Formats: sequence, structure tokens, C-alpha cells
Amino acid sequence: MATIEIGRNDHLDGNGALSAATQSFAVTTHGQKVLVDTGIGNAKPRANPAWDHLDTDFMERLSLAGYPAEEVDFVVLTHLHADHVGWNTRWDGDRWVPTFPNARYIMNSTEREYWSRAEMEESRAIMIADSIVPIEDAGLLETPLVGPQGFEVTPGVRLLPTPGHTPGHIAVLIESEGAQALITGDVLHHPTQAMFPFVGSSVDVDSALAAQTREETLRWAAQEEILLLGSHFTDPTGGWIGQDGDAYRFTPAHAAH
Ligand SMILES: [Zn+2]
Repeated sequence: MATIEIGRNDHLDGNGALSAATQSFAVTTHGQKVLVDTGIGNAKPRANPAWDHLDTDFMERLSLAGYPAEEVDFVVLTHLHADHVGWNTRWDGDRWVPTFPNARYIMNSTEREYWSRAEMEESRAIMIADSIVPIEDAGLLETPLVGPQGFEVTPGVRLLPTPGHTPGHIAVLIESEGAQALITGDVLHHPTQAMFPFVGSSVDVDSALAAQTREETLRWAAQEEILLLGSHFTDPTGGWIGQDGDAYRFTPAHAAH
């Protein structure tokens, strides 16, 4: 087994700054097509200039990968932040409509309820209006309570409560032929948090709980040899977690064999 240090090419940009990606994960299990998170979306008014009025070929690439919009059966939303729900909807020239018309969109009820009560700045209210309300109005949003036992979306795909970044945040456990992978959502944002589990994100709603969840998730992934898929990790996105003293180490999957 090779051990790879986080080097210049892994998870850092050319200036040595931490790099991050915004991405979705597409999984097919037992004939069901599942999309986990929907990125930033096109044409959406956003306060963050890097996210504002994007015009990307995301949907073309998703289709080429085998996931044309009308064939997606489930859209799982790890939490209700703008970079995870954007492609829930698309602009049809007149209004925002569901991008995946035949999908059941799934979000933890704790998450939906929190944001329906939370005081929020205008930009977040705009995001909910353009990316959540249209799927609710179309009857496509389902909000099961994701309790300690988790919630099975479809065989092989289980949602797990991982609160802290947001109150109803979930991670997504994929099980196949005895192996497990965990899509982290924003439990972590960068592999360096394996080494420094108590370093959080500035947008964690409850930073102490987020740190606790991060540490527990890393410990579990290390013990159970779960492939970790970091929702904001640039390539290599997947890797293994090893115990390293009081902390952990992320080893990219492609380097592990
Ligand atoms: Zn995020």
C-alpha cells in the first residue's frame, strides 16, 4: 500500500491554497438512478459572484454519464445550502421548474423545518424560492425524518443524520457487494480536516456539533474501512481514512492499491 501526502497536485491550487469542488454524485442501484446533491445550477441570482448566473454544461455531462434528467428516480439533498440544491430546478423561460420531473426529491424533515423557521438573509430566501418551493409546489419533495437508524431511500442507499453544519444535514451511505462508501455532504469540506477534525467551516450552524460529527464520522470510516467521497473534495474525491495518532489521514483511493 502506498501512502500519499497531500501534495501540490492533491487538493491545493497552484498557489498552495486549499481547493474545493462543487459536485453531484450519481449512483445506480437495482435499476434506480439516484443523484446526490444538485450543485449550483444555471442562471440563478446568487450573492456569491462565483455562483451567480452560471451557464455550465452540467446537464449535458450528466446525461452523457447515463443520467438524462427524465431518468433520475431520486434526488437526495444532503442539506439546504445554495451549492447543493441549485439544479433542483431550471429556468424554462417563464419560471423555475423541476429539472428532474420524474424524481422523488428527498430531504431530512429536520432540515426543511429548520429553514422554514430560520431568520434568513434575502439571498437565502431567494435560493429557497427558486430551488425548493418549485419542487414542493410540484409535489416532488419528500421529507422523511432521518433518525438515528437512518433512512433507506432505496436498497443500497441509506441516509444518515450528521448534524452540525446544518441541523438536518445528512450523509449518504452506499452499500454494494459488502463494501461501503459514504458521501460526506459538508461533514467535511477538505481532506485536511481529517488531520484537523476540529477545524470547521465558517458557515457551520453549530460548530461544536459539526466538529463532534466530523470526528465521529472519521472514526467510523477508519474502523469500518468505508470509502469516503468528499462532496467538496477536488480530484481525487474518494479515499480511505486511517487513524493517525489522535487524528486521521486521508489516502486517495487511487493510491491505496
Ligand atoms: Zn457545501
